[in-house]
Amino acid sequence: MLLIISGPSGVGKTTIAHDVEHELGAVFSVSMTTRPKTPADTEGRDYYFVDQEAFNSARDSGDLLEWAEVFGHYYGTPRRPVDEALAAGKLMIVEIDVDGAAQVKQRVPDAYAIFVLPPSEEELLERLRGRRREDESVIQRRFAKAKQEVQRAKAGGVYDEFLVNDDLASAVRKAVGLVTGEISRRASQSPSAP
Ligand code: 5GP
Repeated sequence: MLLIISGPSGVGKTTIAHDVEHELGAVFSVSMTTRPKTPADTEGRDYYFVDQEAFNSARDSGDLLEWAEVFGHYYGTPRRPVDEALAAGKLMIVEIDVDGAAQVKQRVPDAYAIFVLPPSEEELLERLRGRRREDESVIQRRFAKAKQEVQRAKAGGVYDEFLVNDDLASAVRKAVGLVTGEISRRASQSPSAP
């Protein structure tokens, strides 16, 4: 199954996605991006960092399952690892934004999509500040975009589930429960089931 996990910056979606990956032995998609690498990033684990020319070439050759521009930088999901994981019957996780999720749902209609929500807008702003990754103007920009993203996610009809991250451990448990529930539901509906 292809699992899409989205949510605004600071909501904890990356941690949730990696915890689900480890709990369920899934494969995590490493995106390609033109965003500059920060000291917190590891090449090949968090992203493949490329220049605009390499990104355009991958996109134009059809090597990306989806792509989007986020905060002025380009991000895309390499298609091949997704195809390989799905062909091998594995759970594949892509952590992407709302635009990317809409593209994936069009191309892979049975992808299962979870959107992670903050407990409140105030809490999200506090979490963005607490990461100490950016200065206040960048934080405000991310906060504005986050509010917009939540509205678009709720209006878009792309997401199967909305999961509130009020406590990380319980959000991970809920996410694992949703995914395993969906996998069993599909298995019981498939024609090969007894
Ligand atoms: P960051 O730069 O903070 O790691 O990520 C910024 C945003 O880009 C996040 O919302 C993240 O989900 C999104 N993103 C990361 N990789 C991809 C991708 O491959 N495709 C799309 N559409 N969005 C991505």
